[in-house]
Amino acid sequence: MSEAVVTIPPQRLKSIERRHPWVFSGAVKHVEGSPQGGDIVALRSERGDFLARGYWNARSAIRVRLLTWNDESVDTAFWERQMRQAIAVRANQGVTAGSTAYRLIHAENDYLPGLIVDRYGDWLVMQALTLGIETRKHELAEILLGATGAAGVYERSDVDIRQKEGLPPHTGLLVGQEPPEQVEIDENGRRFLVDVRHGHKTGFYLDQRENRAIIGDWLRGDDHAQEREVLNTFAYTGGFAVYALAGLARRVVNVDSSADALALARQNVALNGFAVEDEGFVEGDVFQVMRYYRDMGRTFDMIILDPPKFAQTPQQVDKAARGYKDINLLAFKLLKPGGILATFSCSGAIDESLFQKIVFGALVDAGRDGQILRRLAQGPDHPVALTFPEGAYLKGFLCQVW
Ligand code: SAH
Repeated sequence: MSEAVVTIPPQRLKSIERRHPWVFSGAVKHVEGSPQGGDIVALRSERGDFLARGYWNARSAIRVRLLTWNDESVDTAFWERQMRQAIAVRANQGVTAGSTAYRLIHAENDYLPGLIVDRYGDWLVMQALTLGIETRKHELAEILLGATGAAGVYERSDVDIRQKEGLPPHTGLLVGQEPPEQVEIDENGRRFLVDVRHGHKTGFYLDQRENRAIIGDWLRGDDHAQEREVLNTFAYTGGFAVYALAGLARRVVNVDSSADALALARQNVALNGFAVEDEGFVEGDVFQVMRYYRDMGRTFDMIILDPPKFAQTPQQVDKAARGYKDINLLAFKLLKPGGILATFSCSGAIDESLFQKIVFGALVDAGRDGQILRRLAQGPDHPVALTFPEGAYLKGFLCQVW
């Protein structure tokens, strides 16, 4: 069967020449042949010049995700080469030296659209976000096993975004051995149990690894760390909590609405040799719990705000901005003079400059003063392709508040 050819009109060439990996339905003028979902197609200009090659999905608004701008075939050797390059990027950054868990493939940002692969010790967890990856996920899992020596590849394609590709959610073993119920990882000498089957995303917020270390280091550098009380909101399985305790904080109060996440947070605190106190784990809504602390007049030395994505789409930016402002305002009210706020947003639709404005607005409304000590972002195992600015989603500030 011959390869289908997609013709792109002159006014839509620019994005492709700039190597943005997405080709929307409106950019497709004509299709020669009848590609099935996931098939490789060639893109040509009206003059017949070769432009790029990618995979097709007629059910998605993104008709083609581009894989190469060279006139080469997309075969097993191609996928293997791309994956080995992504793996090498991690090795060269020392990511693999500090941790047994990290993102190995960051989809479009590693020139492998739709494919997320995270490593947790001996296991890999894959998300197939698009039909083009779905149709070849077993082949890709086999290549990954060979390239990494992992024990098994488990699939966690239970994400809403697949609906836009016409795909139902799916989870299960792809190749190799079943992972244990809890995979233990070592991150900068801290130990964590990860539930790769049921945890959020692929099990752990790997994108916050560097920021967890920054929090721990900040406390370690503080002569009064042993007096410090930390409020860790949206605590999940206690990532920031373990680093804060290792930084010698006196107490960390973890707040999360998920009982399962907090149960694992307790296990992780214990696994690292710290005492598990009931008052350190609060199951509830962060907005309500912070208001309660405000009304009680309770204060903290450090607050971590790492909420889930408030803006799922650009249309939700205004509502999300109000949510971010609310929690930041509450945090500013709860911080002692000289206190530290680590505040984050993982909403791609809210860029760093808008997030800074939101945090500033909250500061003013709280009648406080504050400084940005450090700008925070996703770690180097979550690279951002310059051709794909959408890849930069996590931003944050480490602030000192007066
Ligand atoms: N900081 C964590 C990741 C946070 S993920 C880490 O580094 O591992 C966001 C968490 O917020 C999830 O655990 C989710 O259960 C929780 N959550 C979402 N909305 C919430 C709310 N309104 N109140 C409390 N917790 C919430």
